[in-house]
Amino acid sequence: MTARHFLLFLAVLASTAATQTATAGTDPERPNIIVIVSDDQGYADVGFNGSKQIPTPNIDRIAKGGTIFSNGYVTYPVCGPSRAGLLTGRYQDRFGFGRNPTIDPTEPSAGLPVEEDQISELLKTVGYTNMAVGKWHMGIREEYHPLNQGYDRWFGFLSGGHRYFPEEYIYDSIEEVDTSWGWYKTRLQHNRERVDIDQYLTDELSDRAVEFVAEEHDGPFFLYLAYNAPHAPLQATEEYLERFQHIKNEKRRTYAAMVSAMDDGIGAVLDKLDERGLTDNTLVFFLSDNGGPEQKNASDNGPLREGKGSLYEGGIRVPFAVRWPARIPANQIYESPIISLDILGTIAAVTGIKTHSDRPLDGVNLLPYLRGENTGVPHDQLFWRKFDKDERAVRQANVKLTMGIKDTGSQLFEVETDIGETSDFARDNKDTVKMLEDAHRQWEAEMIDPAFPGLGTWRLER
Ligand code: CA
Repeated sequence: MTARHFLLFLAVLASTAATQTATAGTDPERPNIIVIVSDDQGYADVGFNGSKQIPTPNIDRIAKGGTIFSNGYVTYPVCGPSRAGLLTGRYQDRFGFGRNPTIDPTEPSAGLPVEEDQISELLKTVGYTNMAVGKWHMGIREEYHPLNQGYDRWFGFLSGGHRYFPEEYIYDSIEEVDTSWGWYKTRLQHNRERVDIDQYLTDELSDRAVEFVAEEHDGPFFLYLAYNAPHAPLQATEEYLERFQHIKNEKRRTYAAMVSAMDDGIGAVLDKLDERGLTDNTLVFFLSDNGGPEQKNASDNGPLREGKGSLYEGGIRVPFAVRWPARIPANQIYESPIISLDILGTIAAVTGIKTHSDRPLDGVNLLPYLRGENTGVPHDQLFWRKFDKDERAVRQANVKLTMGIKDTGSQLFEVETDIGETSDFARDNKDTVKMLEDAHRQWEAEMIDPAFPGLGTWRLER
């Protein structure tokens, strides 16, 4: 494609977006809502993105019964900031969540600012019963606790990671931790109680999620099911390892077993919806919180460049699908770029939630796009920033600009056809580069610096 064609293509797509606006549903609806997040799972490690080595028949049920996002992004290439964006529907740099927070229990600012409205808090205002299961990572102090952030029930751990075998859980709380990274070994919390479990962590989280879905609630429910699988440490039980005896690489075998355990659990949740006749009117999202760290957990991002931590596609483009049989057509692949911010954008529009005027959502309602009622693109541009590394990225239509990745300056990729970001067109497209740099600068002017010290600043994080 010549430089001139390149620009023209951009211009056409941009004008399509400008002339069509999202049509919000007229009458508020109250579907049950389930958001399932996996941790550090590779782009290529789900059946619906082509994995043959690790079957994920249950995650694929979500994809087949709904829509696969082939260009589905998260807002940051590591756990904490990505989840802060997802849970608020706002770029996390708007409120200073620009890095993974320290786990230091004496640091008051390390959490998702309480004045931000999370999905759970907003759904509370329209009568939902909410539960969070699994990894929290949005602050370990009392003010940030899930039960103080719109959840009626909570089961899991507050820190950013955890070990999988309960015999290793030796601490009663993070305040007690006296060894490096010891918060991976805390007893779990059920609401405000510390409890002991007697099975593999992933199985326990699945069981708790199924229990919640099985409950009779007064109104609709919202389940935030945040697995820590397949995040390191690589730990799996024989039951799951046996399924992958043919994989020679031990790390990859264990990783596969961890994904498979999670897939079983997701299957049990979906089965419970079927059993109760709730499938048709339950909106289910599935995504990974960031790309796979391929060296660390033996994940596979397929053709994408790099992985977790990177603003190349491998860090921010993730396995992502949505299902809502009553409203979203099945068996489709949606190719325009979308982002985890759109989860709350969609939920808010569907349920008619009122958001604060001084804290507008960055996410949009995807429903009109998925139903073919709007043939434009959901976002003119998507933005990323890694504050501590001075790295930036912006995606517009078919192209993506990266700035400052490992001191490379500005690079322009035709990411729609060059998914692996191999050919840098920046030199031949100076106007496009400048336009995207300016757009990023304008976006960044609305962002603030990180509000808390990062992971690694406390003595027990080293
Ligand atoms: Ca993660």
